[in-house]
Amino acid sequence: MVVLSGVQKWFGELHVLRDIDLTVHRGEVVVVIGPSGSGKSTLCRAINRLETIGEGSITLDGQPLPEEGRALAELRAEVGMVFQSFNLFAHKTILENVTLGPIKVRGQKREDAEKRARELLDRVGVGHQADKYPAQLSGGQQQRVAIARALAMEPKVMLFDEPTSALDPEMIKEVLDVMVELAEGGMTMIVVTHEMGFARTAANRVVFMADGQIVEENTPHEFFTDPQTDRAKDFLGKIL
Ligand code: ATP
Ligand code: MG
Repeated sequence: MVVLSGVQKWFGELHVLRDIDLTVHRGEVVVVIGPSGSGKSTLCRAINRLETIGEGSITLDGQPLPEEGRALAELRAEVGMVFQSFNLFAHKTILENVTLGPIKVRGQKREDAEKRARELLDRVGVGHQADKYPAQLSGGQQQRVAIARALAMEPKVMLFDEPTSALDPEMIKEVLDVMVELAEGGMTMIVVTHEMGFARTAANRVVFMADGQIVEENTPHEFFTDPQTDRAKDFLGKIL
């Protein structure tokens, strides 16, 4: 479904993605881990075309990523993204945050978009907050709204870039629970996270990046119990 092949990316002199080959199949959950600066966020952003790439190709369902205009807006709808910071529109209500994309990009009628948004907000456990503004919600609640907002676009794949790392510990679980449920529901997901519990429960595959390269790829069980490279061993030694 998502195929990266020979992807190279430079920021000036800095070679941030080095010959990345990665295929994510429909319904698969891939967790990406690795040290700070290894290129995990850049990889996610490239799949959503928030970053352009230097060489190589990225396809979604066999189609190269569109470069601009309406097709690009549709790509962003099909590839839902949830960031570390929740990025909700501060001056819109929770309900408006979730209905904006479906109305503007998907051309849904307001009434239909609101009905669907309320269902999604219920599903992530914040249905009763629909008429509030983001600042009135906790971080964990805001992040669940961000997930509902991405889901409202009916994405083919969801990208999560450290979705819980800005949250207080007691809020991490409520967000991870929503993500585990999504994974169990068959959503195709690429998740950058250091939450090893999530990786063990929900991931089909762990991809370990260092210095812009995929250094190791394995099932969570194999990766955590028997890392193959010194770099992965070193990294796991620091975080586990
Ligand atoms: P972290 O775990 O800290 O989030 P990361 O693995 O997500 O790290 P990236 O954010 O992808 O790493 O960054 C990879 C490298 O690219 C880093 O060295 C970073 O400083 C650099 N970089 C990222 N964005 C830019 C940019 N817009 N311009 C220049 N350099 C950048
Ligand atoms: Mg990052």
